[in-house]
Amino acid sequence: MLKIAILVREETSQRCTGKGCLRSFFAKTESFSRYRDTDIELIGFFHSGGDLDYKLAKMKEAGVQVIHVSTCMRAKYDGYEELVAEIGKNFDVIGYTHGSCDGKKVQTVSITGKSI
Ligand code: SF4
Repeated sequence: MLKIAILVREETSQRCTGKGCLRSFFAKTESFSRYRDTDIELIGFFHSGGDLDYKLAKMKEAGVQVIHVSTCMRAKYDGYEELVAEIGKNFDVIGYTHGSCDGKKVQTVSITGKSI
Protein backbone atom coordinates (compact mmCIF):
# COMPACT_ATOMS: atom_id res chain seq x y z
CA MET A 1 0.00 0.00 0.00
CA LEU A 2 1.51 3.29 -1.10
CA LYS A 3 0.96 6.08 1.40
CA ILE A 4 0.16 9.48 -0.05
CA ALA A 5 -0.52 12.98 1.28
CA ILE A 6 -1.85 16.04 -0.51
CA LEU A 7 -0.53 19.53 0.20
CA VAL A 8 -2.78 22.40 -0.85
CA ARG A 9 -2.41 26.19 -0.82
CA GLU A 10 -3.49 27.88 2.40
CA GLU A 11 -5.23 30.86 0.80
CA THR A 12 -7.07 28.65 -1.69
CA SER A 13 -8.25 26.38 1.07
CA GLN A 14 -10.26 29.29 2.51
CA ARG A 15 -12.70 28.78 -0.35
CA CYS A 16 -11.95 25.35 -1.75
CA THR A 17 -13.43 22.14 -0.37
CA GLY A 18 -10.70 20.01 -1.91
CA LYS A 19 -13.22 18.31 -4.14
CA GLY A 20 -11.02 18.36 -7.26
CA CYS A 21 -8.02 16.89 -5.46
CA LEU A 22 -10.09 14.23 -3.70
CA ARG A 23 -12.08 13.28 -6.78
CA SER A 24 -8.90 12.67 -8.78
CA PHE A 25 -7.32 10.77 -5.88
CA PHE A 26 -10.24 8.40 -5.37
CA ALA A 27 -10.94 7.96 -9.09
CA LYS A 28 -7.22 7.55 -9.83
CA THR A 29 -7.35 10.11 -12.60
CA GLU A 30 -5.17 13.05 -13.59
CA SER A 31 -2.03 13.09 -11.44
CA PHE A 32 -3.19 9.93 -9.66
CA SER A 33 -3.69 7.91 -12.83
CA ARG A 34 -0.13 6.65 -12.37
CA TYR A 35 -1.46 4.48 -9.51
CA ARG A 36 -4.04 2.55 -11.55
CA ASP A 37 -2.32 -0.72 -10.69
CA THR A 38 -1.24 0.26 -7.19
CA ASP A 39 -3.08 0.22 -3.87
CA ILE A 40 -2.99 3.72 -2.44
CA GLU A 41 -3.96 5.21 0.87
CA LEU A 42 -4.57 8.89 1.66
CA ILE A 43 -2.85 9.68 4.95
CA GLY A 44 -3.04 13.46 5.03
CA PHE A 45 -4.63 16.48 3.36
CA PHE A 46 -3.18 19.72 4.68
CA HIS A 47 -2.50 23.31 3.67
CA SER A 48 0.74 25.20 3.29
CA GLY A 49 0.23 27.58 6.19
CA GLY A 50 1.21 27.33 9.82
CA ASP A 51 4.09 25.08 10.78
CA LEU A 52 4.59 23.28 7.48
CA ASP A 53 7.86 21.63 8.57
CA TYR A 54 6.04 20.09 11.52
CA LYS A 55 3.22 18.82 9.32
CA LEU A 56 5.71 17.25 6.91
CA ALA A 57 7.56 15.63 9.81
CA LYS A 58 4.27 14.13 11.03
CA MET A 59 3.61 12.78 7.55
CA LYS A 60 7.08 11.20 7.48
CA GLU A 61 6.40 9.65 10.88
CA ALA A 62 3.12 8.27 9.52
CA GLY A 63 4.97 6.52 6.70
CA VAL A 64 3.92 8.80 3.85
CA GLN A 65 5.99 8.09 0.76
CA VAL A 66 4.59 10.53 -1.80
CA ILE A 67 3.42 14.12 -1.40
CA HIS A 68 1.21 15.51 -4.15
CA VAL A 69 1.64 19.28 -4.19
CA SER A 70 -1.67 20.59 -5.47
CA THR A 71 -2.47 22.26 -8.73
CA CYS A 72 -3.33 25.52 -6.92
CA MET A 73 0.11 25.42 -5.30
CA ARG A 74 1.66 25.10 -8.75
CA ALA A 75 -0.39 28.01 -10.06
CA LYS A 76 -0.14 30.48 -7.21
CA TYR A 77 2.33 29.58 -4.48
CA ASP A 78 5.44 31.76 -4.53
CA GLY A 79 8.44 29.48 -4.30
CA TYR A 80 6.62 26.40 -5.63
CA GLU A 81 9.76 25.01 -7.29
CA GLU A 82 11.88 25.56 -4.18
CA LEU A 83 9.27 23.96 -1.96
CA VAL A 84 9.04 20.88 -4.19
CA ALA A 85 12.84 20.60 -4.11
CA GLU A 86 12.84 20.85 -0.32
CA ILE A 87 10.07 18.28 0.17
CA GLY A 88 11.79 16.06 -2.39
CA LYS A 89 14.68 15.52 0.01
CA ASN A 90 12.45 13.31 2.16
CA PHE A 91 9.57 12.21 -0.09
CA ASP A 92 8.74 11.56 -3.68
CA VAL A 93 6.85 14.61 -4.90
CA ILE A 94 4.34 15.00 -7.71
CA GLY A 95 3.82 18.67 -8.42
CA TYR A 96 0.12 18.76 -9.21
CA THR A 97 -3.12 16.99 -8.33
CA HIS A 98 -5.87 17.55 -10.88
CA GLY A 99 -6.29 19.23 -14.23
CA SER A 100 -3.59 19.48 -16.83
CA CYS A 101 -0.30 17.75 -16.30
CA ASP A 102 1.39 20.90 -17.63
CA GLY A 103 0.87 24.19 -15.82
CA LYS A 104 -0.28 27.21 -17.81
CA LYS A 105 2.40 29.54 -16.49
CA VAL A 106 4.45 27.36 -14.19
CA GLN A 107 5.95 24.06 -15.29
CA THR A 108 5.11 21.07 -13.13
CA VAL A 109 8.04 19.97 -11.00
CA SER A 110 8.14 16.42 -9.65
CA ILE A 111 10.84 14.45 -7.89
CA THR A 112 10.62 10.67 -7.96
CA GLY A 113 12.85 7.67 -7.47
CA LYS A 114 12.40 6.76 -3.82
CA SER A 115 9.09 4.85 -3.84
CA ILE A 116 7.65 5.62 -7.26
S1 SF4 B 1 -5.88 21.81 -6.43
FE1 SF4 B 1 -8.02 22.35 -6.83
S2 SF4 B 1 -9.29 21.07 -5.51
FE2 SF4 B 1 -7.18 20.94 -4.79
S3 SF4 B 1 -7.10 22.48 -3.16
FE3 SF4 B 1 -6.38 23.46 -5.02
S4 SF4 B 1 -8.17 24.42 -5.98
FE4 SF4 B 1 -8.88 22.97 -4.41
